Amino acid sequence: HLDRIGEVDPRVHAFLHVDAGTALAAAGAVDAGLAAGDAPASALAGVPLALKDVLATSDAPTTCGSRTLEGWVPPYDATVTRRLREAGVPILGKTNMDEFAMGSSTENSAYGPTRNPWDPTRIPGGSGGGSSASLAAFEAPLAIGTDTGGSIRQPGAVTGTVGVKPTYGGVSRYGLVAFSSSLDQAGPCARTVLDAALLHEVIAGHDPLDSTSIDAPVPPVVAAAREGAHGDLKGLRVGVVKEFAGTGYQAGVLRSFETAVDQLRALGAEVVEVSCPNFLYALPAYYLIAPSECSSNLARFDAMRYGLRVADDGAHSAEEVMQLSREQGFGAEVKRRVMLGTYALSSGYYDAYYGSAQKVRTLVTRDFEAAFASVDVLVSPTTPTTAFEIGERTDDPMAMYLADLCTIPSNLAGNAAMSVPSGLSDEDNLPVGLQIMAPALADDRLYRVGAAYE
Ligand code: GLN
Repeated sequence: HLDRIGEVDPRVHAFLHVDAGTALAAAGAVDAGLAAGDAPASALAGVPLALKDVLATSDAPTTCGSRTLEGWVPPYDATVTRRLREAGVPILGKTNMDEFAMGSSTENSAYGPTRNPWDPTRIPGGSGGGSSASLAAFEAPLAIGTDTGGSIRQPGAVTGTVGVKPTYGGVSRYGLVAFSSSLDQAGPCARTVLDAALLHEVIAGHDPLDSTSIDAPVPPVVAAAREGAHGDLKGLRVGVVKEFAGTGYQAGVLRSFETAVDQLRALGAEVVEVSCPNFLYALPAYYLIAPSECSSNLARFDAMRYGLRVADDGAHSAEEVMQLSREQGFGAEVKRRVMLGTYALSSGYYDAYYGSAQKVRTLVTRDFEAAFASVDVLVSPTTPTTAFEIGERTDDPMAMYLADLCTIPSNLAGNAAMSVPSGLSDEDNLPVGLQIMAPALADDRLYRVGAAYE
């Protein structure tokens, strides 16, 4: 994999940092253990992985795709990082991402875009475009992403790979640099559903260092993937979300989705149409809640506690240093979100914006509850379109935000969701994803359905 990275990454730019020494040492330790007759630490011992650059690594920079954290090496490992190391998974390096995970194309990285291995003129999705592109380019067999509004599933869909957003609280957020804390969730990216399940099992589970971590057994995701692989979905009730179709969806994506639904039926599932009317308000609610939390979380990058420090010559006031540093340290999208969030939270506007958005969040959660009273999983296209051209949406934030139309409801509700490859669009021959959504703590259902479908 290191050779492959050397060969193709100058073109793909999936990685911001590659650490051959650390990866080879970790692999060597697994080999030495096996030679000494030790049982492997996990099913994935020795299988290398690409880690999104938003998870803290004590031995490598963690930049979050931002200028403000250029060269910053955290003093500790994220819990996800630690669990990977304990499982004997060598970390190849850190992957490119939209700055602080804000974006749908990886074009908001301060270090230049990642290219989609299927077509280098197109985006690999975002914010975790680096992680998914590394899988599609065969630079890594496993990767970790984070999903606040779709950043694991949308890149998975447009690169033809698997991406899972676990139940909120299922995977520790300790050492995951916060964007929107009530939505952020790390999860597995892989080329097959079983690989994703094996990785899910390594990273999931209760962590006392994260106060929102759920103290419950990890859903039996590996067993579910193995069961699903037999291709029998008899007795499973699947709901097709009626609202996720129509204007804005490419015809090729909708045709691929219809074929996918036919296949689920052929595998024995009972398919019904389900209405979730409030899902249409999830996107606008998200773009108030996520920027609000971001404006608070990113206050720590003040050039005093964290982040780039500009004009440190004593000739400026503390306030001026903060202003200059944030002006130069943050890119345009991050600034837009901080301003939006600050506005939405300001007194006089709080109830109208943030308060209303929180009510919509509850309505979206209730739509899920009503749907899951009669079906086991919901399905939809993961994204309305296939990978768009690099530069196509950079001047139009609304067009960019629409990429997450179908993925955001599961984040607002804290539910589990997966994108599984669904072939190529007959319109442009680019990958399409099928999204599967399950209730909180029923992550195993995703793996059963995903493995049966893939
Ligand atoms: N694209 C969405 C955003 O820009 C989601 C990002 C994410 O999931 N991190 O906020």
